[in-house]
Amino acid sequence: MNIHEFQAKEVFSRYGIPVPRGIVATTPEEAKAATAELGGQSVVKAQIHAGGRGKSGGVKLVRSPEEASEVAQTMLGTNLVTPQTGPEGAPVEKLLIEELADIKQELYVALTIDRGHRGPALLVSTQGGMDIEEVAANNPEDIHTEPVDPLSGLMPFQTRRLVRKLGLDQAVASEAAKVLSALYRVFVENDCTLVEINPLIITGEGHVVALDAKINLDDDSMFRHADLLAYRDVSQEDPLEAQASDLDIAYVNLDGDVGCLVNGAGLAMATLDVTNAAGAAPANFLDVGGGATPEKVSSAVKIILSDPKVKRVLINIFGGILRCDIAGEGIVMAYKETGSTVPLVVRMLGTNVAEGKEILGASGLPVVFADTLTDASNAIKQIKV
Ligand code: GDP
Ligand code: MN
Repeated sequence: MNIHEFQAKEVFSRYGIPVPRGIVATTPEEAKAATAELGGQSVVKAQIHAGGRGKSGGVKLVRSPEEASEVAQTMLGTNLVTPQTGPEGAPVEKLLIEELADIKQELYVALTIDRGHRGPALLVSTQGGMDIEEVAANNPEDIHTEPVDPLSGLMPFQTRRLVRKLGLDQAVASEAAKVLSALYRVFVENDCTLVEINPLIITGEGHVVALDAKINLDDDSMFRHADLLAYRDVSQEDPLEAQASDLDIAYVNLDGDVGCLVNGAGLAMATLDVTNAAGAAPANFLDVGGGATPEKVSSAVKIILSDPKVKRVLINIFGGILRCDIAGEGIVMAYKETGSTVPLVVRMLGTNVAEGKEILGASGLPVVFADTLTDASNAIKQIKV
């Protein structure tokens, strides 16, 4: 789960990581009042679940409360497109109005899971404020990494080593070291998959401040973070993905026109490969899971059918815990309820396959049955779109 910058900064504050004074605004009037409150100047920052806002008009410095109101007017209610959003952008419903920072230097700091060493890794760079991907590609030696042993945690010698590589003066270095250890606690205690500060600035007075804040949380840990769950902003999520997640269906929206319904993540991946091999493109990844009921299968099919991109459907069910007759019932239920006529190719094997095919065959739906993945691929090719 992603959260907004202002929420990540609330978390940072709880851990003693310095952030600029800021006020959330949802109207131009609030942006104006907030800027007055902050001394008449501010930075207006669009709150969306994506970075790259600076380059895309989502971060604006303003010199008066009136200007804040004007800038807020142009941002609120629009979809902000950045290099990290899709072409449709992300809706701007909230702004973070912050006091202006006096930036002397911009650093980069992040913690993430490094699968290579099977634990967290702390990354720092003096090349903050810009695309870290670019730095990684062109000047990888400018990014310094410390793999952390999750049992012993981040050790003081590791923070000292990183801070030394940043070449900071002693007083600044000691503040930076405190931020790094606090950041590690944020990461572990909140089950984060990513915590990033870009830029972590050094101010003219030599203080260290998190000017930006990004936190990604592990979805599988949310059951033990009720406080963080309150940070969820569904407006920032793909509507179909949000609906699927509420139904506990593993679903990822993709670009193609073949809606895929599969049980099991491995089989779902294989189904995407087969679809691509057929010269077609999948509209989604969908794993309906093992113990699905007809109602759950039906909800999954309805999600697929409500996607306007979907011109054909490929069902690939291996009937084990999810029996083929249950899947068949669910599919028919969804088609009957939506009145859809989207053609479907069904490959079913396993428990109660005869009953499953019988239910689908008798339903009057535009079904083509396939026995193997190759047959399924050929059948998908034959549907004209
Ligand atoms: P991002 O582009 O979405 O990552 O948004 P950031 O919060 O990182 O802001 C982008 C850039 O705006 C930063 O790297 C800074 O250079 C600049 N910026 C943000 N806040 C301030 C501020 O208070 N004063 C000044 N001078 N620049 C700022
Ligand atoms: Mn940033």
